[in-house]
Amino acid sequence: MPEGHTIHRAALDHEAALVGHPLRITSPQGRFDASPLVGAGDSATLRRVEAYGKHLFYVFERGRTVHVHLGLFGKFRRSPSPPKPPAATVRLRLEGPKITIDLRGPTACALVTRTQKSALVDRLGPDPLREDADPGPFFSYLERSKVPIGVALMDQSVIAGIGNVYRAEILHLLRLHPLVCSCEVPKDKVQEIWSLACGLLRKGVVDGRIITTRGFFAARGKRIPRAESVHVYRRHTCLTCEGPVGRFTLRARTVHLCPHCQPYG
Ligand SMILES: [Zn+2]
Repeated sequence: MPEGHTIHRAALDHEAALVGHPLRITSPQGRFDASPLVGAGDSATLRRVEAYGKHLFYVFERGRTVHVHLGLFGKFRRSPSPPKPPAATVRLRLEGPKITIDLRGPTACALVTRTQKSALVDRLGPDPLREDADPGPFFSYLERSKVPIGVALMDQSVIAGIGNVYRAEILHLLRLHPLVCSCEVPKDKVQEIWSLACGLLRKGVVDGRIITTRGFFAARGKRIPRAESVHVYRRHTCLTCEGPVGRFTLRARTVHLCPHCQPYG
């Protein structure tokens, strides 16, 4: 599933490509009803694109808003306009004068009211990629929660935008075992989790990929090989100590960790 950096990057890209232009809005698959958006015509003007965690909101004139959540299988495809005829699986096509964005396989793609949008956003924890993020609720949740830190970091109502890769890497960088009780994570490490999330996700937006290793500190512009881009996620050996990487299932998702660098207890 895409993590927060991918969603914010899409928001920036789609905003730059589509905002201010009348967009021809269609649903080749037929599962999105664009008529309330376009009225009697077939186009509407996009005002802005907002990202909160893994959620996107396309705000059109008169405040009409389309909510998109990619889920596990959703994907965007960008092509020059005029586009080729769409595949039958395209849920939503936004055709601008220069760029066309196709969306396939999302978990959610629907018009939402202002109230529905607020309800969706209010359910989310602070998003490290948003300038207006207040980490206070994240800190206080961890302070009183008995759930494992590895579960808390994936809970979008606790912190929004982190997925399996960033979870594995942040916990590794801080030498925290995923099963440590959230309330037992020292305060300074809780602060560091937030700082690392902010730094790593922002870098992810710029790079368009997840790099948590030396690339995090090295000068930009140098291509980091995939095998060296993470410490433990989907690796056989830990990039730090070269010991075997462990994995187990936690709430139906696989956690990757180094038992040597991240001892339990
Ligand atoms: Zn290690």
